[in-house]
Amino acid sequence: ESLDKGLEKSKTSFFGKLNKAVAGKSKVDDDVLDNLEEILVTSDVGVNTTLKVIERIEERVAKDKYLGTSELNQILREEIAGLLSETNSGEATEFSIPEMKQPYVIMVVGVNGVGKTTTIGKLAYQFKKQGLNVVLGAADTFRAAAIDQLQVWADRVGVPIVKQSMGSDPASVAFDTLQSAVTQNADVVIIDTAGRLHNKVNLMNELTKVKRVMKKVVEDAPHDVLLVLDGSTGQNAFEQAKQFTAATEVTSLAVTKLDGTAKGGVVIGISDQFQVPVKYIGVGEGIEDLQVFNKYEFVDSFFR
Ligand code: GDP
Repeated sequence: ESLDKGLEKSKTSFFGKLNKAVAGKSKVDDDVLDNLEEILVTSDVGVNTTLKVIERIEERVAKDKYLGTSELNQILREEIAGLLSETNSGEATEFSIPEMKQPYVIMVVGVNGVGKTTTIGKLAYQFKKQGLNVVLGAADTFRAAAIDQLQVWADRVGVPIVKQSMGSDPASVAFDTLQSAVTQNADVVIIDTAGRLHNKVNLMNELTKVKRVMKKVVEDAPHDVLLVLDGSTGQNAFEQAKQFTAATEVTSLAVTKLDGTAKGGVVIGISDQFQVPVKYIGVGEGIEDLQVFNKYEFVDSFFR
């Protein structure tokens, strides 16, 4: 029920608006579809994914000749679950890492302010709670504050951190971190990287270099490239997803700040548009406020 709490606002907003849109209507007509389109777009589902959903509902209306508004909820639910299924397996409910990786290396990317450091701290906490040895690497070397903040989280969670001074080479920090992790027999390494989107080519070069250097220590690292997006920023989150997926191979997403605003829809659109699974969602500022994304729970809470 913490997911419910976290997504409360998205839910009231989306579900409330949906009910309003069909009030007094018995069948799904052009009016209802127009309203639905607007609701999806204003819920940050994104234009492309919204059009996809509308199109699928139109097809069903055309096929069945008549579609009652009472069935609209169920059909939307199926369509949204279907979209999420294309990228999210949805079975996982616990924080876990695949076995056999020694260590398992997570490279975290995203711009400043999205909740990257907080997400790394929360993740480290979850893994440590399971008895795993975690090492953090401060390879977002552009701002001193980024390094300091990661240090604060490392202290809070009680895990070692590898860092260098501000302005040092991110790849060198990543290299040191992996070496240290291997020496310590760590289970999980979480590396903070590239906090700025100065320009596409630089971003790509930096991330490529960090990855290349990692492989010198752990052959198949990174095992996960986790992009952190702020779910409360709607179109900005889409834009960042576009830039980062163009710059490097992003393998999973963490969508933060889904507690504070009516923006849960962004999860649907981004996951669909970029064909990357959402692995975690942030639902608050506290250390426990990170959840493993479960598409079934998500769709349920969206429509309850
Ligand atoms: P970074 O610059 O990307 O590393 O961002 P930080 O981790 O420093 O987070 C920026 C702000 O967002 C901080 O005030 C965090 O407490 C806050 N924050 C991070 N994740 C969440 C979340 O899931 N929900 C809420 N409400 N705030 C969050």
